[in-house]
Amino acid sequence: MSIDTLLDGFRKFRKIYYEQENSLYRDQLNHGQSPRFAVIACSDSRVDPAIVLQSEPGDIFSIRNVAALVPPYEEIGNYHGTSAALEFAVCGLGVEHIVIIGHAQCGGVAAMVTNQEGGQAGGQFITAWTNLLREAHQRATRINPELEGTALLRAAERQAVLLSLENLTTFDFINDAVTAGSLSLHGWYLNIFDGALETWNPATGTFERTT
Ligand SMILES: [Zn+2]
Repeated sequence: MSIDTLLDGFRKFRKIYYEQENSLYRDQLNHGQSPRFAVIACSDSRVDPAIVLQSEPGDIFSIRNVAALVPPYEEIGNYHGTSAALEFAVCGLGVEHIVIIGHAQCGGVAAMVTNQEGGQAGGQFITAWTNLLREAHQRATRINPELEGTALLRAAERQAVLLSLENLTTFDFINDAVTAGSLSLHGWYLNIFDGALETWNPATGTFERTT
């Protein structure tokens, strides 16, 4: 696949969004953006939220990184790309929902699990980043010490979503918006094996498969 594939893609995009009488971009989006949703998804090429959720341009403020991870709030820190994006989404754009979308077969979670089990996966940056999720591995094995292999990975991936969901609440600006009732937090898990989406229900403490 050559780089022309991407340029052809742009030509298609232009045809759909600019070369029509009613252009979403010309008529609305060039005045600014006001997305209602911020989505944190993995950089994995298979889980693009705009495609998976079939949204339109302008609908989703998308934050993507390795393993769809939200780091905990840190007072001192220099390069917090995810935290900066969250701050802008909540304080600048006033999004009404933050959705974390973890997924099956996540290489970032797999790297973390491998490292936690004494192996070596990932490089200088991946290891430090994904190790923020080590608690997900610990929780998965605490809940079921028998877990191993792919079953352990699937459990750790779901626990990673919950951990990132908890980390969201370490940011004051998020807590304040949730308390004010202007922001809701959601944890979802995309099972890419069978095209299923599971949503976390805090009332039952389970991921529920959407129909
Ligand atoms: Zn992933």
